[in-house]
Amino acid sequence: MLNQTSSTRTTQQWQQLDAAHHLHPFSDMGSLNRAGSRVITHAEGVYLWDSEGNKIIDGMAGLWCVNVGYGRKELADAAQKQMLELPYYNTFFKTTHPPVIELSHELAQLTPEGFNHFFYCNSGSEGNDTVLRIVHQYWAAQGQASKRYVISRHNAYHGSTIAGGSLGGMGYMHEQMPSRVPHIVHIGQPYWFGEGEGQTPAEFGLARAAELEARILELGAENVAAFIGEPFQGAGGVIFPPDNYWPEIERICRKYNLLLVADEVIGGFGRTGEWFAHQHFGFKPDLMTLAKGLTSGYVPMGAVAIQDHVAQTLIAGGDFNHGLTYSGHPVAAAVALANIAILRDDGVIDTVKHDTGPYFQKSLREALAASPIIGEIQGHGLVAGMQLSPQAGSQTRFENGGDIGLICRDHCFANNLIMRATGDRMLLSPPLVISRSEIDELVEKAARCLRLTAEGLGY
Ligand SMILES: *Cc1c(COP(=O)(O)O)cnc(C)c1O
Repeated sequence: MLNQTSSTRTTQQWQQLDAAHHLHPFSDMGSLNRAGSRVITHAEGVYLWDSEGNKIIDGMAGLWCVNVGYGRKELADAAQKQMLELPYYNTFFKTTHPPVIELSHELAQLTPEGFNHFFYCNSGSEGNDTVLRIVHQYWAAQGQASKRYVISRHNAYHGSTIAGGSLGGMGYMHEQMPSRVPHIVHIGQPYWFGEGEGQTPAEFGLARAAELEARILELGAENVAAFIGEPFQGAGGVIFPPDNYWPEIERICRKYNLLLVADEVIGGFGRTGEWFAHQHFGFKPDLMTLAKGLTSGYVPMGAVAIQDHVAQTLIAGGDFNHGLTYSGHPVAAAVALANIAILRDDGVIDTVKHDTGPYFQKSLREALAASPIIGEIQGHGLVAGMQLSPQAGSQTRFENGGDIGLICRDHCFANNLIMRATGDRMLLSPPLVISRSEIDELVEKAARCLRLTAEGLGY
């Protein structure tokens, strides 16, 4: 039943039309068009089906976003009801509407203390654009407009708008961005495996945090507005910083009067077993960027959560000249509410914290314990990064970084497993509703693909 679609086209026809008219994000279109895209036609729970009828286990929850899994009728019903009642209205000119009011009230309840105001947009990138606007407005409103530098990290991902891409630290994106937002600078990432040779993780964590202080002193604290970071780097490779990193970053931000921004686009809404990943790492940001899991990807929505002292400054500061036609879109807000209701009322995040998260982490480590090409496994809750290494357990990396990751990803593709490669780190981040038996299948397939990769290398 599930692999029947209403389609009248063959896979080949779809691929030809896709190649003829569709430019994909972050893709080499020449080679993609020669190979042909996989056509995903429908999905249910943690599974996808392609146009050839293959059933694929989605170890990435779409693009880190389908937290409640596919096919949730509650979300579809909420969207339909809202579309019929009030499909759209703006909130620019002295108007508002029930869905955005209810969502803001709901978010104020479930976010940590002090987050009582929310600004909406349509994506994580726009969320980080909004962060930049808020940060600048905050300091300007306090008569400290010289505080305008934002410090980020190399290999951070903060989206692909001009501000998101500038805030991010992806060199291959910067190369194609001759126009970047000024006053954004980058320090080293807390990637101990790759960059902390000769140091313990704790020494390295402090050293990388000390780069923040050094940069602040170099720029002058009176010129530095904020620090932004993902609590754990997602697209950068599921990099969990050493335990002492975030507390030290927080201390430095407070010492020099910087706003601390947590980009929670991946970490938010349960990924680590907490509602927000900064709670797992034990620090308190002033602003949080939200997107992805906010609506489980069913419709686009992003938001910035704002601590009281920042919100009060903005409120007292007069006009804030920023907004998007779809800020607080009623359909997106209704879907977000239905999504949050599932995460909370079905105990999804509790289950990740106490049951499926620990089970996944343990199973993955057991299944890969004997792999000759695993350097380290990092992660917590339902997110993991597996570092490929020429020598298991050593802190060494393959030459020509990324080649082996792509080989592994090809095995995943052939084995109907979605597992992402970032360089030579393999990433898993399944829907949060994944069951224990589905975790067994996911881990077994991941282990098989890593075994095939190792065998292909002659291990
Ligand atoms: C995906 C992502 C973004 C960008 O979100 P979009 O919705 O793709 O614009 C920003 N920050 C982080 C941490 C992300 O993972």
